[in-house]
Amino acid sequence: MASVELTQVRKSFGSTEVVHGVDVSISDGEFVVLVGPSGCGKSTLLRMIAGLEEISAGEIRIGDRVVNNVPPKQRDIAMVFNYALYPHMKVIDNMAFSMKLAGRSKEEIRERVDKAAAILGLTDYLDRYPRQLSGGQRQRVAMGRAIVRDPQVFLFDEPLSNLDAKLRVQMRTEIKELHQRLKTTSVYVTHDQIEAMTMADKIVVMHGGKVEQIGTPLELYDDPANLFVAGFIGSPAMNFLTGKLVSDGAGRGVRIAEGCVLPAPANREADGTEVVIGVRPEHFEIDQSCVRAQVVVVEPTGADTQVYCRIAGQAVTAVSRERHTFRPGDTIDLKPTYGKCYLFNPASGARIA
Ligand code: ADP
Ligand code: MG
Repeated sequence: MASVELTQVRKSFGSTEVVHGVDVSISDGEFVVLVGPSGCGKSTLLRMIAGLEEISAGEIRIGDRVVNNVPPKQRDIAMVFNYALYPHMKVIDNMAFSMKLAGRSKEEIRERVDKAAAILGLTDYLDRYPRQLSGGQRQRVAMGRAIVRDPQVFLFDEPLSNLDAKLRVQMRTEIKELHQRLKTTSVYVTHDQIEAMTMADKIVVMHGGKVEQIGTPLELYDDPANLFVAGFIGSPAMNFLTGKLVSDGAGRGVRIAEGCVLPAPANREADGTEVVIGVRPEHFEIDQSCVRAQVVVVEPTGADTQVYCRIAGQAVTAVSRERHTFRPGDTIDLKPTYGKCYLFNPASGARIA
């Protein structure tokens, strides 16, 4: 096992820079998720850690070794993709493949494959071909190929993206459980914020080749640094309403429209300042009077009710554990939960309060 340290890492393809100076510090044994929208540079960063892509500037350390010029094979890492297995090889040979290439002895290969198969519950499937396995079993074999190598670091690039929704949820729990058992330092790339939230010890939120924020899942959820992170982490996404700061008898507020004022969190901005107020869907209390909203769509999921509505023309979503029987066109009362609102600067996106 080893720590991984990225210092001011940059990547250009030709004259276009796509990774703009990334600093990430991953402790020994940590499970870190790189998350962000498609094209933000996640795979490029992972491939630079693997040595499959040269870095244009900066430094990458694995353990106490700078690996900038170390070839992939000597970095002691293993990558897990969503790639298909070799279809003409049995499970045992798929798992043994890299060790055979590396010239390991038959006995050592067999011992390591057996151990990995036992960990992954694949012992009874070693003689099958990939087509004779379920999607989940195939995914386990893909992980088996990495585990047998007993690397210092696992690198995962969207390994679950080919699986259906139910299997994806099951496999993310399996990967997390596996990590709790093996405690191998892991860097996991996904565009799926739920995957990031549920699996990570630490999340790195990326956007446009830059790191927006690094923190534990709940740090990012409770304390987003800016509009991007606030909108990206959490589902359904945080509501954003634009308005102006005002003061009245009740204290300070954000006026969304004439006669429509949401209470503002404490801040140092002057009245009249344009702001974005952020409220998570689960932090709108339905039927508590504060502002009026027009119902557009109601979606009962069984466990909760998602109410899509408009406040002074601006779209918002409220989620409630209650079962509501509102109809489109109804007017309802919404109140943000005390102490659960955020304020952002609309121009820079920075959090103000
Ligand atoms: P992600 O994995 O977050 O979806 P990538 O790391 O694959 O994003 O890509 C980041 C950016 O770099 C994208 O704009 C992509 O088009 C560009 N890019 C990736 N690989 C290459 C390449 N080999 N040549 C040129 N541009 C590339
Ligand atoms: Mg990618």
